Amino acid sequence: MKPYRAWFQCVRGCEGRYSLFDVIYHCPTCGGLLEVVHDHEALAQRDAEAWKRLFEQRAHTTEWPYASGVWGKKEWVCPEVDDTSIVSMYEGHTNLFWAERLGQQIDVPDLWVKLCGNSHTGSFKDLGMTVLVSAVRQMIAQGTPIRAVACASTGDTSAALAAYAAAAGLQAIVFLPKDKVSAAQLIQPIANGAMVLSLDTDFDGCMAIVKEVTRDNTIYLANSMNSLRVEGQKTVGIEIVQQFDWEVPDWIIIPVGNLGNISALGKGLLLMRDLGLIDKLPRLVAAQSAQANPFYLSYQTGFESMVTVTAKRTLASAIQIGNPVSYEKAIKVIRQFDGIVEQANEDELADAAARADLTGMYACPHTGVALAVLFKLVERGVIGSQDRVIVVSTAHGLKFTGFKIGYHEGTLEGVEALRRNPPIELPPDAAVVRDTIARELDKRKI
Ligand SMILES: *Cc1c(COP(=O)(O)O)cnc(C)c1O
Ligand SMILES: [Zn+2]
Repeated sequence: MKPYRAWFQCVRGCEGRYSLFDVIYHCPTCGGLLEVVHDHEALAQRDAEAWKRLFEQRAHTTEWPYASGVWGKKEWVCPEVDDTSIVSMYEGHTNLFWAERLGQQIDVPDLWVKLCGNSHTGSFKDLGMTVLVSAVRQMIAQGTPIRAVACASTGDTSAALAAYAAAAGLQAIVFLPKDKVSAAQLIQPIANGAMVLSLDTDFDGCMAIVKEVTRDNTIYLANSMNSLRVEGQKTVGIEIVQQFDWEVPDWIIIPVGNLGNISALGKGLLLMRDLGLIDKLPRLVAAQSAQANPFYLSYQTGFESMVTVTAKRTLASAIQIGNPVSYEKAIKVIRQFDGIVEQANEDELADAAARADLTGMYACPHTGVALAVLFKLVERGVIGSQDRVIVVSTAHGLKFTGFKIGYHEGTLEGVEALRRNPPIELPPDAAVVRDTIARELDKRKI
């Protein structure tokens, strides 16, 4: 038996392999991103059916660390980390539910939502952070002098890093753009004991500073140019297929900012195909906010050149990014998956979220972007009523209470809020209450 192995390699194909436990983020030859490459020959020693059985069996245990949705696929993720180094809160295994009523309304009856926000810190970022922090713990165990882990964040990355670092007994340092993250996102790393640095700039500005600071190798960089996170995040696509009893859906729609998550989604699905677990690929849709749409603009030119923008303020604050780090990886994925990039403006994303909420969801603004893009593609006839469609919901709506309040108060800039549902203030008088209910019931007809 060949042992399962993985290493870093340049995405642009330069020579050289680097250990996953080296402090290295870029190709020393060309400066491009690194990606984790697995020994496919070793993985192919087990056939597709046996992998499926193994993954199924682990999903129903509490066995350390395999009960985690990420570590249940350890051989495919980060095979050489010691189980004793792993920092996990049994992330993954999030629910994929049939959005029956919303699907009926848009004539896509086979519509599903993957609720990645039903996770420890309320976003999919947990999937990647468990891998990164586990690798750091192993590096430290091997004697690497790492004093802290750091990231710039639009809110969710820092929440995940702070939680996993605290679980591991490591110091986290997070760089947040001042006044550009939600109250929940700001308080999460504070509660978990991270050093929270609030900088008077945007995400891209924070990113530039954290890159400078982490030139000092004793502070380890946890942003998504660090490809360890992609390895954990790539389990989401595998998990979706697994939840459908290994059937591949027609479409997966995902909101994108730094483009790490869509790269991860594609990577997981390609690995499944290469190992024979599936024989076709879904089409992928990257959904951007029109306020921060460099990938959309670049797609419009057939990816002729990389576009960067200064991201404007958007309700979808976790994707308010103008200079996406995983641009090259994401282009490859869009091409391989016959993908589409589409955008949604503030009114569209808020309306889509409100519409979904009225069918029982509680959509965060980023999920609103993905839903708005779904509605557009259905209207345009690109997505048809026979298609099985998955919308990836990236965060929990409860992290974005300000967005919900603003919508229903009608105070969001650029949003018409046609589905507002403010509370009705009444005197404590049964007759008035009865009349009001009667009037409202006539008006509302569900
Ligand atoms: C991070 C994040 C995204 C975007 O993921 P990228 O990898 O940056 O493209 C989308 N939605 C939410 C809620 C996020 O936290
Ligand atoms: Zn290179």
